[in-house]
Amino acid sequence: MALSLYNSLTKQVQEVQPLDLGVVRMYACGPTVYSYAHIGNFRTFALSDFIVRTLKFNGYQVKFIMNITDVGHLTGDNQGDADTGEDRLELSASREGKSVKDIVSFYTKQFMTDYEKLNLIKPEKFTQATQYIKEQIDLIRRLKEKGYTYQIEDGVYFDTSKFKDYGHLSGFTEETIKEGARVEPNPQKKHPVDFALWKFSPPYSTRWQEWESPWGIGYPGWHVECSAMIFKELGEQIDIHVGGEDHKTIHHQNEIAQSESASGKKFSQFWAHCTFLQVDGGKMGKSEGNAYTLLDLESKRYLPAALRYFYMTGHYRKPLNFTWEALGNAQNSLKRLFEAVSAYNVSKDSTGRVSDDYVQKFERSINDDINMPKALSVTWDLVKSDLQEDVKVATLLKLDEVLGFGFDSLIGFEIPKEVGDLARTRWEYKKVGIWDKADFIRREVDKMGFSIEDSDGGYKVKKRF
Ligand SMILES: [Zn+2]
Repeated sequence: MALSLYNSLTKQVQEVQPLDLGVVRMYACGPTVYSYAHIGNFRTFALSDFIVRTLKFNGYQVKFIMNITDVGHLTGDNQGDADTGEDRLELSASREGKSVKDIVSFYTKQFMTDYEKLNLIKPEKFTQATQYIKEQIDLIRRLKEKGYTYQIEDGVYFDTSKFKDYGHLSGFTEETIKEGARVEPNPQKKHPVDFALWKFSPPYSTRWQEWESPWGIGYPGWHVECSAMIFKELGEQIDIHVGGEDHKTIHHQNEIAQSESASGKKFSQFWAHCTFLQVDGGKMGKSEGNAYTLLDLESKRYLPAALRYFYMTGHYRKPLNFTWEALGNAQNSLKRLFEAVSAYNVSKDSTGRVSDDYVQKFERSINDDINMPKALSVTWDLVKSDLQEDVKVATLLKLDEVLGFGFDSLIGFEIPKEVGDLARTRWEYKKVGIWDKADFIRREVDKMGFSIEDSDGGYKVKKRF
């Protein structure tokens, strides 16, 4: 089956038809490792995961790269101008009294830990911007030779007026910026939307991170890293580029401008943007004090998989409202799913045939612009259906290729003998009406992490999650 995906470039849902038969080349803008990635950032990374898993489910090979920004991302980006303000990494280093290197390694490690806990599919490579300085300089040189750049006091800039398609992706142009300007653009820039490719280190001071270049000592602008890494790792043309909606206006538009100006080819066929996560119905952010991290969730005893489940409860193009209650509901649903799967009386090597009917329903949902809420409801329909347990198990394992909940570790779960013995003894007491002893044993079993459910004429022991 082919994936139908909303393309921000054409503003339409379109079928993904990769440039190379059978192979999809995809890139996602990753984190800037100056602090913890929050659950809003991870919503976008989860979208990449769902897309990659869906493509693989469809039988494609996916060449997937995600970057780690470890240089040159300036705080001015918050105000709509990514070339002003301070370097987030240098700022974080001075605030925490550490070197930039220590900041980068600490937060990269933390990001990788969270990434794994959420069972997000690993890219072929996490590319670090500082490992591609040569490629970034080469790209700027190419742009310079083609006449797309100019140099001013603080750096080398891209002249957006030379790229006729500028503004196509997001409608952000010189005219719109003039109306809504929140920051004074650098007066030396030829046009307010021009952006820095290379910034010079401030005179008479050194930065933690700086490199020689043909134009002077400095560091690359933020946007140039993505294009340079894509060119190196995936080629000048890719199929899908993923990122948060906040990147659409400036960052992605600049990636397109510099890439297409250098190569003369269309850069990415598809642009997929994930809508922001809200918290308690409002904006989420560091200054609002609600930019929760996975660690915050875990310290309140939520499972990382519960967050994964929660992300699936909303469509990626709609705002999703995070509340502790909503996360709690997601966790309860997930636990009920785990209980059901672990209670099936099927061992790993005795699973049945998959139900084509449910696989197809599921396939249609994920391929319908990554409709994860629908995919979840198909999963629940399957669990509640009257299909045989071995068929359910085989089908659930198939769906889990995309769901990523780790059902395989639950299949064929055996109730420990002592728990089984206790449940049997309780049943004997119950049959003869010795209720206090029966209740006492039920509580003991409960403390051991299992529950006993009575049905007419029998009982079932389940592991609790
Ligand atoms: Zn990027």
